[in-house]
Amino acid sequence: MIILKDNYIKSFVDFLNKNFMIIDENVELEIMYGYETVGAEKNYGFGVYDTLNKKIYIADLSMIAIEKELTPQDIIRSTLENIAHEFEHHIQNIKGKEFDENEADMFAENIVKEYMTLK
Ligand SMILES: [Zn+2]
Repeated sequence: MIILKDNYIKSFVDFLNKNFMIIDENVELEIMYGYETVGAEKNYGFGVYDTLNKKIYIADLSMIAIEKELTPQDIIRSTLENIAHEFEHHIQNIKGKEFDENEADMFAENIVKEYMTLK
């Protein structure tokens, strides 16, 4: 049997899609394997939302795992939080709202917590 290494990302994306079907404008997610940080439109960090192309880029946290002493579990949780944070920016964008970092952080923390307890 083959077990897909990054299946946790797909299952989280499925979870978000199921819970946020109301968001009918698509956003493409790309995990940037091998990149410690990602950037677009003068911003860079562990995740970025490109408003022009409606794309989310997420950095590869395994690149900093040793330096930051991240466990595999930390990498999973933080990666999912980064995806959710940028997804919230997508929601803010298509609702025509200003980007709100606190709202994106709260959304990410809560939705990942909810997802983790369901698993
Ligand atoms: Zn943000």
